Amino acid sequence: MKKISLVGIICLVLLNIGVIAQDNSNKNKTDVRIDSLLQHMTLEEKIGQVTQYAWHMTMTGPEGKEIDLQQEIKNGKVGSVLNLSGADETYEIQKIAVEQSRLGIPIIFGLDVIHGYKTIFPIPLGEAASWDIDAIERSARIAASEAAAAGIHWTFAPMVDIARDPRWGRIMEGAGEDPYLGACIAAARVRGFQGNDLSDPNTILACVKHYAAYGAAIAGRDYNTVDISRQTLRGIYLPPFKAAVDAGAGSVMTSFNELNGIPATGSDFLINEILKNHWNFKGFVVSDWNAIREMIAHGFAKDTYEAALYAIHAGVDMDMMGMIYSTELSNLLNDNIITENNIDEAVKRILRTKVSLGLFRDPYKYCSTKREHELLLHPDHCEAARDMARKSIVLLKNENNVLPLNKNIKSIAVIGPLADNKDDLIGSWSARGEGKDVITLLAGIKSKVSPKTKVLFAKGCNINDEDTSLFKKAIETAEQAEIIIAAVGESRDMSGEAASRAYLDLPGVQNQLLRELNKTGKPIIVVLANGRPLVLTWMSEHIPAILETWLLGTQTGHAVADVLFGDYNPSGKLPVSFPYAVGQIPVYYNHKSTGRPEVQNTRYCSKYLDIPNKPLYPFGYGLSYTTFAYSDLQLNKYEILVNDTLYASINIKNTGETAGEETIQLYIRDVVASLTRPVKELKRFKKIMLDAGECKEIGFTLSAADLGFYNQNMNYTIEPGKFKIFIGTNSENTLETDFVLLPDSLSETEK
Ligand code: BGC
Repeated sequence: MKKISLVGIICLVLLNIGVIAQDNSNKNKTDVRIDSLLQHMTLEEKIGQVTQYAWHMTMTGPEGKEIDLQQEIKNGKVGSVLNLSGADETYEIQKIAVEQSRLGIPIIFGLDVIHGYKTIFPIPLGEAASWDIDAIERSARIAASEAAAAGIHWTFAPMVDIARDPRWGRIMEGAGEDPYLGACIAAARVRGFQGNDLSDPNTILACVKHYAAYGAAIAGRDYNTVDISRQTLRGIYLPPFKAAVDAGAGSVMTSFNELNGIPATGSDFLINEILKNHWNFKGFVVSDWNAIREMIAHGFAKDTYEAALYAIHAGVDMDMMGMIYSTELSNLLNDNIITENNIDEAVKRILRTKVSLGLFRDPYKYCSTKREHELLLHPDHCEAARDMARKSIVLLKNENNVLPLNKNIKSIAVIGPLADNKDDLIGSWSARGEGKDVITLLAGIKSKVSPKTKVLFAKGCNINDEDTSLFKKAIETAEQAEIIIAAVGESRDMSGEAASRAYLDLPGVQNQLLRELNKTGKPIIVVLANGRPLVLTWMSEHIPAILETWLLGTQTGHAVADVLFGDYNPSGKLPVSFPYAVGQIPVYYNHKSTGRPEVQNTRYCSKYLDIPNKPLYPFGYGLSYTTFAYSDLQLNKYEILVNDTLYASINIKNTGETAGEETIQLYIRDVVASLTRPVKELKRFKKIMLDAGECKEIGFTLSAADLGFYNQNMNYTIEPGKFKIFIGTNSENTLETDFVLLPDSLSETEK
């Protein structure tokens, strides 16, 4: 085993930290030891701990000035390194920190492990479509075990930003538009990454991001201004962060955007008041890449000096690549603008985390080449990725039951730029995933069908240019087959960071290709691969079957083939609305009513002249190869008091001929309130399997706490009155009844 060389008395202190850290019952003693370590640290060394640099050449943001990172580490001036991975690679650098710096404090290595490390799972928006919380937790657990084996201690995930605007490319990284679903998924991902014990070498530290309201960028343009009410902030954007913090997330990343005039990275309100004080968050806060410096461009800080001041005062504990804490904190201290205590508070949070990770005990425990070889792309991981990918697929349309296909079909034409494509299907932010490990759609289909089936292929066009020269061959190929599977969508770099789009049609000439293919008269199944909701209006009218497969990662081809040929009955449901047209955006199910709700054939009401108000495919929507009938919505009481619980039940029957899974969704509406409430709010869901013909009663328990909201005074309040309750298969197709919450000793409560 590789040994740490500890130097002198100071190092004994460190060793003690490690020993104490093993004893969870002794947290206070850990703090005492950290305090004593702090006393041995120079100001420079403290500032080092709050400084994070990117490993050379692996920039995920604007490049900073070149520094000699290894020398800085020797000098104790680096607390964390991002974008370096690999058991050997991290070992070498850790060795410098531990053996050559004065105090030997280990480095914490961070990386964006967003949907897998080497085995790549579906993009997070895709996983959210599974509504399968356990599977999502498992996916994060596997990602953590691979990353941890490759020297990573800390992932910059989960990204829990609610996104109501599909123009925003980062919608692919989150769980969609709903705060309740988003909160369930946020907590699951934190549990998955961190497990029960951060010092377990198979777990890594989670970082909840981007705090806060980054997804509300005006017009869906990345990094743009956010201007939303405090109620919308608390009611829509913050719940997933709160859920992640309650689940024990050990770190939080600030967002790039300003929120109502104050950059999030300088927001005392967001970080100190809400996160650290109100939610009692004990971990540490890291800025996003260069976000401290960007407060100058925002027009909030005059210079780097002020930017550092605002960030440290707001409660940002670590500077990611802003290179500002490293220079300005000492200036602020010399000018008596901040105290050393301000810096100590940040350092303590970071050191405590390093202790929890077990880094003082064995700084190399994550750098195991043996585990790295064993775990990366382990067959069990690939199987789990295939299962997660199948669960993420949403069947949008299936006219005349075109799907599932028979494996003995005589011939299939697989057409489109995403059919024989490896690199795009792993999606944006795919850590160390490689295209070469991806099963293409074409390969998946070939391995599924009978040996006699002729599988023909033509690319048809590129993803995003105007070249139609490949159309001819595609049409000729299509004409030779019984059925066409068209694989169309976006490239991986069309979603993710800095990937906003103003047009949400299929890019390039892909729609045109579909129209040409349609003229052959052959049935077409569209397999969509994309990182965001697209505008599918023409397709939904003319193409008989549409599968939304997002970007499914390493096992794409097998997973899609499982669904196409009926080995897996699709069960995904949209975690976000698909707009009818770009002009409708933002369109989301939990909107308000307005004073003039839409009325058919009436002019002066809230509607468009040229398109419907409703999205093309609503939140919660997704078909199956079987059908489900809902009946008998009942409540155990129709009047409740604030301390009562309410039990709502419904009968659900599988009315088709095959077993299938259904996600039953429960929504409420507070009909009259002191602040208007959304027309529907998701409050519960359950995913169940029903055999053909099987009927089950499904029940949900609600309590008054589920009925409240943040009022004018920013207190969580539960107001008496009439509520509607809806249960159904998606946010639009529900049965409904209502009940009354009786006046009681209700008062504003803190939540
Ligand atoms: C992104 C973060 C990411 C960071 C480090 C930034 O540009 O906004 O989400 O974690 O880079 O790669």
